[in-house]
Amino acid sequence: MSDHPNESAWCEISPAQISQNLRHTLDRLPAQTGLCAVIKADAYGHGIENVVPVLMARGVSHIGISSNGEARAVRAAGFTGAILRLRTATPDEVNSALGEDVQELVGSEEGLLAIRDRLGEKPLPKLHISLNANGMSRDGVELSTPQGRQACGNILKLGAGKIVGLCTHFPSNHSDELVENIARFQRDVAWIFANSDLRRQDVMIHAGSTLTLVSGLDPQVDMMRCGAILFGIAGPSPAFHPALTLKSQVISVGSYPKGSTIGYDRTTVLHRDRRLASVALGYANGYSRRFAQSAQGAQGAEVLIRGQSCPVMGAISMNTIVADVTELPEVAISDEVVAFGQQGGREIGSQSLEQLSGTIMADLFTDWGRRNPRIICNRIALDA
Ligand SMILES: *Cc1c(COP(=O)(O)O)cnc(C)c1O
Repeated sequence: MSDHPNESAWCEISPAQISQNLRHTLDRLPAQTGLCAVIKADAYGHGIENVVPVLMARGVSHIGISSNGEARAVRAAGFTGAILRLRTATPDEVNSALGEDVQELVGSEEGLLAIRDRLGEKPLPKLHISLNANGMSRDGVELSTPQGRQACGNILKLGAGKIVGLCTHFPSNHSDELVENIARFQRDVAWIFANSDLRRQDVMIHAGSTLTLVSGLDPQVDMMRCGAILFGIAGPSPAFHPALTLKSQVISVGSYPKGSTIGYDRTTVLHRDRRLASVALGYANGYSRRFAQSAQGAQGAEVLIRGQSCPVMGAISMNTIVADVTELPEVAISDEVVAFGQQGGREIGSQSLEQLSGTIMADLFTDWGRRNPRIICNRIALDA
């Protein structure tokens, strides 16, 4: 087909589907709660340049990123709202991001002092205080200890006039733990207001991610930070749906007699004569070696060809997989193959691939999106 890229495998991205996921996300937020759309890891593999216009079209005010490259890509896409870095940054990173007006996370007095030293005469960027709140213990101030409260007091003084947010990141979204985490965060926030000149109306209080939103519990914040759900991860279907399809093509078709073995290490033996299609997709494209049949014969992944499910046979090679197309005599070289997503009325969904790979879709999407070219389909009229 003419719109196939000249590549082995590729990802098709649907901005229209991301837009629908975003609309349902906004609808689900508790009243009075805004959204920080999280697009770190190059928008979970979907491409920042493909996603930012969708966010802007629906009036998203805050975008969450991780690296300076991502911040630049967000500005290059025309976003003029608030960019919030979702992790603490090195002093050099903070300095380099001043031009993009990135709001920074501060979780330790040392961190803020180092940033201040690096910036010298330049004004500090807008700051969000990261509260550990008995949470991830990766970058937040822990107010349960006297040293932590002391450090937080110093951060409040050093950052006076620049602090625009108070936040935490919940380590678990199981309802019991979440209820406790929310209460603890609210107590920490109250402590800050009771022990500083910070005014409630000057700061944004934010916490909660996709799984918090899906839990239905209200974290009672001004803003929740959600990424995965925008890309169809974890949100209940049919409202939410993935916006990425992993595709390739048939590059060879052949018949092999009973007794033939397939692929490296002969892990699969044919018990009947079979017609096999070779597909230009392998672990170099992020198609996990765990998608193979097990040596014990447990089923591996399936791919869609001509709208039908075809089992993947044998090991996953670097650039090829083999699919059983015995039941589909019409399969021919150059046929489109869907390894994730829909074709005809069928779908290779998240559940089976998460189970086989032992990882989560966010991991697979970022991997696929970075290893393969991205093609945009289902463009939307962004002023609609
Ligand atoms: C990634 C991230 C989020 C978004 O998480 P999702 O589960 O993808 O919604 C929110 N906050 C922080 C600090 C993050 O790092």
